[in-house]
Amino acid sequence: PSPLGEHGPARIIAMCNQKGGVGKTTSTINLGAALAEYGRRVLLVDFDPQGALSVGLGVNPMELDLTVYNLLMERGLTADEVLLKTAVPGMDLLPSNIDLSAAEVQLVSEVARESALARALKPLMNDYDYVIIDCQPSLGLLTVNALTAAHSVIVPLECEFFALRGVALLTETIEKVCERLNPDLRLDGILATMYDSRTVHSREVLARVVEAFGEHVFHTVIGRTVRFPETTVAGEPITTYASNSVGAAAYRQLAREVLARCHVE
Ligand code: ADP
Ligand code: MG
Repeated sequence: PSPLGEHGPARIIAMCNQKGGVGKTTSTINLGAALAEYGRRVLLVDFDPQGALSVGLGVNPMELDLTVYNLLMERGLTADEVLLKTAVPGMDLLPSNIDLSAAEVQLVSEVARESALARALKPLMNDYDYVIIDCQPSLGLLTVNALTAAHSVIVPLECEFFALRGVALLTETIEKVCERLNPDLRLDGILATMYDSRTVHSREVLARVVEAFGEHVFHTVIGRTVRFPETTVAGEPITTYASNSVGAAAYRQLAREVLARCHVE
């Protein structure tokens, strides 16, 4: 992919699956880092009160005074007061911590409660090419905010037995948000993660996912490797931690697919 002369308007991608442990946070960090390597300006939004995305980028969520929570709830606060630069050139982070769990409750009584995140991101749109929102494992109001702000959704699916369980509920939620709040929202793709080519089981699950979603499945498949848990401890993306690894190559391939598939309209 060729470098860009100028940046924005950003395409917003929600990384979403209400199941935990399927690779949402890992995919957010590494897709973001790979897009940044290709010269794109990237903003990662930690939208899970657990703060795993922030931790994965070497930030201690407990030490933060300002997080995405403040940006959602406080008028007059600007994003640059909350933004953090990451070690990856061109990639910034809107961090979060447990404070964000209060937003789920506090937003309920707000006007246009589903579009708080969209409003908060709006002033940033011309500063970035991609904004990736790392959703929490639920379909609650925070995730609905992410889907309302997004142009498209990527759904990481673990190549495990019950992977497809719950996907119907997720696609229903996406359809509802599409009907009521965000008519332009679309499903970019299903991303198969934690694939183990040595097991028949993994291959069978992947075949079923392709059968169910056809063209919506990314050609890139993310293999299972301990390199990913290692990167969390290191607090950096696999693209810098183990630049020549299979995992880094996979996320670079995904980035090229995203650049080709989810072009900015
Ligand atoms: P989620 O955000 O959906 O809960 P994570 O990205 O945090 O999922 O991944 C859950 C755990 O699995 C983490 O410990 C992560 O390091 C690990 N992991 C993620 N992707 C892979 C992979 N491809 N192979 C092996 N472990 C992985
Ligand atoms: Mg996560």
